[in-house]
Amino acid sequence: MIERNLPLSDETPTPEPTFRDDVTVELVRSSAQDADVLFAARVSTAGEQSLEELQKDPERSKGLINFLMRDRHGTPFEHNSMTFFVSAPIFVFREFHRHRAGWSYNEESGRYRELQPVFYVPAADRKLVQQGRPGKYEFFEGTAEQHKAVTEAMEDAYRQSYDRYQEMLAAGVAREVARAVLPVGLFSSMYATCNARSLMHFLSLRTKDERAKVPSFPQREIEMVAEKMERQWAELMPLTYEAFNTHGRVAP
Ligand SMILES: Cc1cc2nc3c(=O)[nH]c(=O)nc-3n(C[C@H](O)[C@H](O)[C@H](O)COP(=O)(O)OP(=O)(O)OC[C@H]3O[C@@H](n4cnc5c(N)ncnc54)[C@H](O)[C@@H]3O)c2cc1C
Repeated sequence: MIERNLPLSDETPTPEPTFRDDVTVELVRSSAQDADVLFAARVSTAGEQSLEELQKDPERSKGLINFLMRDRHGTPFEHNSMTFFVSAPIFVFREFHRHRAGWSYNEESGRYRELQPVFYVPAADRKLVQQGRPGKYEFFEGTAEQHKAVTEAMEDAYRQSYDRYQEMLAAGVAREVARAVLPVGLFSSMYATCNARSLMHFLSLRTKDERAKVPSFPQREIEMVAEKMERQWAELMPLTYEAFNTHGRVAP
């Protein structure tokens, strides 16, 4: 991760920009375990059961979760909840908010607070060159010159736009108007709440994974968010996670 706070000069307004090449995903609250899936599924055949009863036979539990995933009985995977705090560039949020089903969002406001100058600049290992056709691009390493050009252009544009934002605020212009000048590389933050089923659908579209039956070609930056969510979810629901991978990473 790079975080460069450059020194203040007489001309530059405060606060100084911070440039980030990573994203933050923190699981802040959850009620999600494999037993929630069993609990919901077994009401079909056995009525109400205690958690102890459900967890008595681990092989049977695993078998049931596998069956539900394979045959796409999706609703038992909805009886759980995970809330993530996500900090990422606005262009990632723009893609993220297209996921409507089984997701709830609350994002920081550019009307009610002054936006902080935290901006995205790709890391040195972010592939910069795209080849192929829309929907099926392949990405290749950029040269050192291309990385330099990207870093310089972005940092320069970010500084200029944030300076103009500050000028408008200083002139008494409302935050909701002044923000129009800020770019999509600006970081935003949100709480995003989902369940395992909606998360699986998101992961199927926003990660590129060899185990996927239906390949997807997501933008790398939303994939960085998805990968962090996936790791945290895998710890909460290991059997569901395993079944998701076994059955081609298709949401049931
Ligand atoms: C690689 C990639 C490239 C993309 N490129 C573009 C692009 O160029 N332009 C663009 O606009 N978007 C683009 N998208 C966004 C994409 O079109 C979807 O909006 C996004 O992936 C969310 O998918 P979803 O609608 O399945 O998810 P959700 O909104 O979470 O919906 C989940 C599921 O619920 C059902 N559902 C939800 N709403 C409805 C409804 N109204 N009617 C019927 N069924 C519904 C569907 O089965 C859907 O799959 C891209 C996405 C990816 C992954």
